[in-house]
Amino acid sequence: MLPTRYGGEQAGIRLMSRQPAQTWLERTLTVLETLLLPPVCGGCGRRGAWFCAECAARVRRDTVPRCARCDAPAAEPVSRCRRCATWPPELLMVRAPFLFEGPVRAALHRVKYRGEHARGRDLGRRLAAFVRDDLAEVMRPVDLVVPIPLHPSRLRQRGFNQSELLAAGVVELLGLPMVKQLARVRPTPPQVGLGREARQRNIDGAFGWFGPSLDGQLVLVVDDVVTTGATLGEAARALSMAGAAGTIGLALAREP
Ligand SMILES: [Zn+2]
Ligand SMILES: [Zn+2]
Repeated sequence: MLPTRYGGEQAGIRLMSRQPAQTWLERTLTVLETLLLPPVCGGCGRRGAWFCAECAARVRRDTVPRCARCDAPAAEPVSRCRRCATWPPELLMVRAPFLFEGPVRAALHRVKYRGEHARGRDLGRRLAAFVRDDLAEVMRPVDLVVPIPLHPSRLRQRGFNQSELLAAGVVELLGLPMVKQLARVRPTPPQVGLGREARQRNIDGAFGWFGPSLDGQLVLVVDDVVTTGATLGEAARALSMAGAAGTIGLALAREP
């Protein structure tokens, strides 16, 4: 799924010194293009809008019954299910409105690997619009928005954090503060291709909170893609150790 050059932290660090993910010139051209031309469709590349009408029709939440906690499709609506049974209690619920496929997957890859920052914020606003329309009751008591961080070595390599771009769109629409004081305290290889247990081992103890006490606050954590929920669960644990009352996870997309 990912280009091989992102295949591991080792590879990432090696690349960082010789060949950055995007050159300065490429980044500048991306910014100029954003300023001067209408955007291209994240799904099919046609110029005119962030999503053309055809692709926008496929960027839609399906209406199957779900688990109220983890948002996974279920035979009937349930309050929790097998998938989220092992989550830490601090992770109250997760919402991931879109499937990680088709136009959403293509658009997110444009953000991550071509550095299309403005597209990242657009996706964040779409995510926030979903929250505002469908989860108003749940979201009202949320105090702050925290993006899932990259490890500093990965951040240097990529130059930006895609979850932070999404979170910027979310706070823009919801009017909540974004606080970026959750950090990765150790580098973790990408979760891609790992099974559920390996993912959990990989992410155990990966996060630390470096801000003031969260003192009973409800935190909305933003990530790009959710698979097993291990990353969001680990973030929720770190935030709870800092005093948070609980964490709601919000991801743009779920692995089908
Ligand atoms: Zn399109
Ligand atoms: Zn569930």
